[in-house]
Amino acid sequence: MDTKQILYSSDAAASFATGIEGWIDNKGRFFGDSEHMARYSGCTHINCAECGKPTVRYYRICRECQDKKSIERYNTKPRIKWNGKTPLYSEAHDEYFFDTESLLEYIDEHDCSIRSLRLIVCVANKFREIESDYFSDDMTDGYELPADLEDAIAALNDVIRQQPAASWSPGKYAADCDL
Ligand SMILES: [Zn+2]
Repeated sequence: MDTKQILYSSDAAASFATGIEGWIDNKGRFFGDSEHMARYSGCTHINCAECGKPTVRYYRICRECQDKKSIERYNTKPRIKWNGKTPLYSEAHDEYFFDTESLLEYIDEHDCSIRSLRLIVCVANKFREIESDYFSDDMTDGYELPADLEDAIAALNDVIRQQPAASWSPGKYAADCDL
C-alpha cells in the first residue's frame, strides 16, 4: 500500500493537461488511441466469438459454446464397450466411478442421462519401479551399487509389479455402457 502523503494543494495530487485526446475507460484510465484496450478495461462482458451472446470477458467463447465443443470432441473419440469393472471418468461432471452401482446412484441423484456424463474408460497408473540409477547421485562416479542393495531393489520391484493400480486416469476411449 502506498502510504506517502500527498497534500491536496500539491502538484503531485493532480495536474492540468492540455492537448491530449484519446480513449478513457469508465474508471478514468487513459488508453490513448487504443479504443479496444479502453473498452476491454471498462467492460465486464464481451461477445462470444462463436455465437455472439454476451459472455464474461475472461472467456473467448460462452459456456454454451464451450459445452457444444466439448460434446463434439467427445463424440469423435474412439468408443469401446465398457467391461463393467474398469473405473470410468465423467468428462462433463469431473467425477470418477468405480462400479455400476455408484454410477447408477449418481445418475439418479443428479437426474442426468448416462450420455450427458460423457464417460471415458480409465487407464491404470502403476506404482513406479525403482530405476537402477536411483542412487547414482549419492555414489562416487564409477562405483557399482552394492550387490545386496541391488538384490533388494529387484525384490522391491517384484512387489511393485504385483500391485494393483495405484490410481486411475481418463484414457483415450469413450465408454459404451449397457446398464
Ligand atoms: Zn457462444
